[in-house]
Amino acid sequence: MLHATLKQLSDGLATGKFSSAEVTKYFINRINNLNNSLNSFISLDADKSLAQARAADALRAAGKAQTLTGVPLAQKDIFCAQGWLTTCGSKMLSNFVSPYDAHVIERFNAAGAVNLGKTNMDEFAMGSSNETSFYGPVRNPWDRERVPGGSSGGSAAAVAARLAPAATGTDTGGSIRQPAALTGICGLKPTYGLVSRYGMIAFASSLDQGGPMARTAEDLGLMLNVMAGFDARDSTSLQRTPEDYGRNLAQPLAGLRIGLPKEFFAAGASADVIKAIEGAVAEYKKLGCEIVDVSLPNMALSVPVYYVLAPAEASSNLSRFDGVRYGYRAKDYGNLAEMYEKTRAEGFGAEVKRRILIGAYVLSHGYYDAYYLRAQKLRRLIAQDFVEAFKQCDVIMGPTTPSTAFKIGEKSGDPVQMYLSDIYTIAVNLAGLPGMSIPCGFDSNGLPVGLQIIGDYFSEARMLNVAHQYQLATDWHTQAPKNIREAAS
Ligand code: GLN
Repeated sequence: MLHATLKQLSDGLATGKFSSAEVTKYFINRINNLNNSLNSFISLDADKSLAQARAADALRAAGKAQTLTGVPLAQKDIFCAQGWLTTCGSKMLSNFVSPYDAHVIERFNAAGAVNLGKTNMDEFAMGSSNETSFYGPVRNPWDRERVPGGSSGGSAAAVAARLAPAATGTDTGGSIRQPAALTGICGLKPTYGLVSRYGMIAFASSLDQGGPMARTAEDLGLMLNVMAGFDARDSTSLQRTPEDYGRNLAQPLAGLRIGLPKEFFAAGASADVIKAIEGAVAEYKKLGCEIVDVSLPNMALSVPVYYVLAPAEASSNLSRFDGVRYGYRAKDYGNLAEMYEKTRAEGFGAEVKRRILIGAYVLSHGYYDAYYLRAQKLRRLIAQDFVEAFKQCDVIMGPTTPSTAFKIGEKSGDPVQMYLSDIYTIAVNLAGLPGMSIPCGFDSNGLPVGLQIIGDYFSEARMLNVAHQYQLATDWHTQAPKNIREAAS
């Protein structure tokens, strides 16, 4: 069961090889044995998980099972789940038990999936290393002195260490793809609007998108089939005919045009990363793909544009945490204004405060035109670059991250260095496009490298096909960290 994929677990449950209660107990046991050293989960509730598992077994016995019925999954702690502590990695929500389910959680519940627990993350999803979490850093299972990436680092580490067969994440500027790359798993950020943001605690609403993290492209498709769908409670949710994202998996890749943006290879990725990406491109050529040189001339602007727009939206979104409605409230205060001030001073961590200050500044009367408005215009140009590129190719490929997993503490004192870890992922969010990361090799320290695949709007089924065919031909995605066997049974 240790290395079983979602697909294999789903098949095993369908044929009665094991029950959901057995599978769920197996993963709870692994979490109990390994979570102390990884810090992947913020909250666990074995009784709740097992109750869901038994309900799933009953559904199956009644002939009402769906593909993911009885399969246990970990949920990023940004998704509100009824009756579960939902902290978003912040002291501000450290006492918040959600009274309702996010759309994504509702969908998994309706599919009969089991919630194994809520995973650790950067505070309010602001970060690339999981070090900004109020609950402490998550450790990378490949090397526990290193970060797993962020902000969905708890989900990534849990899947890589086989504490959960798959998990959810959210991606505002790379938070699904970057941690997937750094922990050697797969992650998909869908086209903006495909997955409802209802009940997903807001960071930068025009960029935030939930998506699946798993060990194979096929499993990502199974999860996306559940996660995607129209929801009237999210005003940017798209009304589309439901599709099976796994429908194209078997399609051969001959004739596929892969665009390699020259800016992706000039932007200072490490030699080991470039070597692994070149190896992947060579493999795709063997599969019959055609390589096309493309250009994204405005890509270099994506980090500065993002760090104007995302903080602007965050400063507005986070104004709701005022000590009145929910969450943390300071103990001693003389009047209402002081209560707000102390609550926010004590409840938010340093990175969140930095973003709120930057956001309030770029939105302020004297600076709005110079920063916010200008960044909005550049955002359009960045999106336009992709429109041009997709006239010449079917998918774009490149590195997910400039380096492999860095050491805990290595970049936490230097925000600009930290922000640059998202140089390859951010443009995709600004454009609203789908992007994914799959493992494609290791560096000289044995740390995983991620290959980024970017598709045109709504091309998720095609992208999963592109990833799946590579995974049939290679075995990078089956590699596991060496020291995760402690609790294998
Ligand atoms: N690392 C980026 C940031 O700090 C992206 C985070 C995310 O995608 N949630 O904002």
